[in-house]
Amino acid sequence: MTAKIISGKELSKQLRGELADEVRELKMVPSLAVILVGDDPASHSYVRGKEKACKAAGIDSIVKRHPSSLREDELMAEIDAFNEDSSVHGILVQLPLPEHISENAVIERIAVNKDVDGFHPVNVGRLMTGKKAFTPCTPLGIMKMLEISGVELRGKRAVVVGRSQLVGRPVGQLLLNEDATVTYCHSKTKDLASHTSQADILIAAAGRAGMIGETHVKEGAAVIDVGVNRVESTGKLTGDVQFEEVNEKAGWITPVPGGVGPMTITMLLHNTVEAARGTMFDDES
Ligand code: NDP
Repeated sequence: MTAKIISGKELSKQLRGELADEVRELKMVPSLAVILVGDDPASHSYVRGKEKACKAAGIDSIVKRHPSSLREDELMAEIDAFNEDSSVHGILVQLPLPEHISENAVIERIAVNKDVDGFHPVNVGRLMTGKKAFTPCTPLGIMKMLEISGVELRGKRAVVVGRSQLVGRPVGQLLLNEDATVTYCHSKTKDLASHTSQADILIAAAGRAGMIGETHVKEGAAVIDVGVNRVESTGKLTGDVQFEEVNEKAGWITPVPGGVGPMTITMLLHNTVEAARGTMFDDES
């Protein structure tokens, strides 16, 4: 028996259609401001993908592209202007930024209620305490894939390989919020397979091509491959999981490409619609 393939591409098509319907029912057009600094080709390609997806969903996107010489104070002034502008609902600064600009300072400058990437410390803290929060898009997409596939989380053992602020930590927190028992592994973890082979849910987010093989996986596990690695010889993208052999053992598996990647953009659209609704923090006392 091979694993059930969770196609982020298919799921995204369905969810983006639903989001477009939601947008049509809103009384205003949601608007996302994207700031891009520098000429990193991958960042430019991601931003083009975000613009295209916004358009298809009926969301306005305003993209500001700047040379890498942009000063930090100029970037801050642009963020301030978007924070003040009530017609802009979401703000995203594409990372990474050039070295002379502090990413932390930039993230903290974005208004908490427009922080559609979910990186602001207030949103991170709210997530940690189990409150409603803007949640980073990749982890949110992973949770949606697990939920729609009917993977049980309560009381199950989840192992997350990777502990970055972007993926590993928040996805572990979300799994914990759903009552999974969570273990984080990272580059200093000894005997990785002894941990991962216990996992009912295994999240591979290390960015190491093919590091998770059949021996790392428990029979019937849900294996989510977050890794995006470029194979130098072919230029093709590949995940952290050896798909062919793990597919024979896992219960569920996500492909690369066409897995977590498309879900990440879908969740950005979702967060932008949430920001436009403006009800995220209504439970605030
Ligand atoms: P980071 O480089 O920030 O973090 C990688 C994490 O993996 C670190 O915590 C690191 O440990 C850990 N790690 C590295 N090598 C090993 C190893 N050999 N064994 C165990 N743990 C290891 O990457 P990101 O979290 O930003 O991204 C992870 C992957 O996901 C990348 O391939 C990235 O391209 C991809 N990605 C995909 C997205 C999508 O939409 N599909 C979105 C975002 C990321 P330590 O902390 O000790 O250094």
